[in-house]
Amino acid sequence: MRKKIVAGNWKMNLSFHEAEALIHNLMDELEEAKPTAEVIICPSFPFIEMATDYMEEHLFKVGAQNISPFDSGAYTGEVSAAMLASMDVTHCILGHSERRKYFNEDDKMLTIKVNQALANKLIPIFCVGESLPERESGKHLEVVRRQVRHGLFHLDTDEFAKVIIAYEPVWAIGTGMTATPEQAKDMHSYIRTLIAERYGDEVAKATMVLYGGSCNSENALEIFSQEGVDGGLIGGASLKAEEFISICKQASIQDV
Ligand code: PEP
Repeated sequence: MRKKIVAGNWKMNLSFHEAEALIHNLMDELEEAKPTAEVIICPSFPFIEMATDYMEEHLFKVGAQNISPFDSGAYTGEVSAAMLASMDVTHCILGHSERRKYFNEDDKMLTIKVNQALANKLIPIFCVGESLPERESGKHLEVVRRQVRHGLFHLDTDEFAKVIIAYEPVWAIGTGMTATPEQAKDMHSYIRTLIAERYGDEVAKATMVLYGGSCNSENALEIFSQEGVDGGLIGGASLKAEEFISICKQASIQDV
């Protein structure tokens, strides 16, 4: 039996002192709750060092929200995968719909970033998901298929086995409109079918596929108990320690 995963995406939120307070609260609550789920927090770059300083592997791991497609050099404002790996960062969110939308990150760019992450031993948390018009016009499977294939299927089996996928319907992110348990279950199952076609059943079964999109302490248990849902990528609700820990506890009730 393997553990579920709960990753908190803090996005571009909090001041330094608020981030510090949140980390302290999380540590206290995690120490007490001792969830069996693997907990990852993904703060903004300026707070990464603080998070890794406080990091205790048994309580939480630290992920980044982005990496540069470049190795190093004259790329003002960029942060490389190698820099993050040298600070004990273990994971990296890639392909988030906000980066696809506001920063024009396309499949080609994401392929390069996935390669950068893996070359530097960062585990990509690779996000896929359809928009509302795509869902309403019945194109959701086609969209997710393209994102999974174009973003990840260039990897060989050993590389792919390191990747975590997050299904995040764009219409559910930050909207309070969660996917129904059936919608989540069906898409997770579809993603696994795609993986099985490319890498075989064993790899498909072993791949962690998280759900993200308005997940909170009220709906986490129902979503996490769906077959094939291996945990969650949590945005807004990860900014409140109590709420986030409640989600982590619910993920811990049912290990995968
Ligand atoms: C996210 O941005 O990854 C996310 C899941 O956000 P929220 O939980 O706020 O919908």
